[in-house]
Amino acid sequence: MNKQLLAKIKEKLEKAKISIEQELKNFAEKDKKIKGDWDTKFPQFNGGAGSQQLEESADEVEEYVTRLPIEHSLELRLKNINLALEKIKEGKYGKCEKCSGEIEEERLKVYPDAKWCIKCQK
Ligand SMILES: [Zn+2]
Repeated sequence: MNKQLLAKIKEKLEKAKISIEQELKNFAEKDKKIKGDWDTKFPQFNGGAGSQQLEESADEVEEYVTRLPIEHSLELRLKNINLALEKIKEGKYGKCEKCSGEIEEERLKVYPDAKWCIKCQK
């Protein structure tokens, strides 16, 4: 892969990383113990047992449940991006993890964090 394209891809990955991290910050906290892991903030419940408060709590739980899969997919994406950046640093970027062949450049332009070549993805 030529250096120019690699630099472009690196820039793309870094931009994506920043935007995903910002998105995650909106509803998750960085896990202090596990590096690169994020926890969806669980809503704070207030003590009272009034019916209105209970309803509000139910809404908050519902919100938490819908946020979880979003958080997981963002987190996964972020991990893949970090892996790709790591590979660039080590000079191993662009190799398919399944067949060790080169991942198509056209594919990497669209999915810079792709791990597999088109053949292995199928
Ligand atoms: Zn492959």
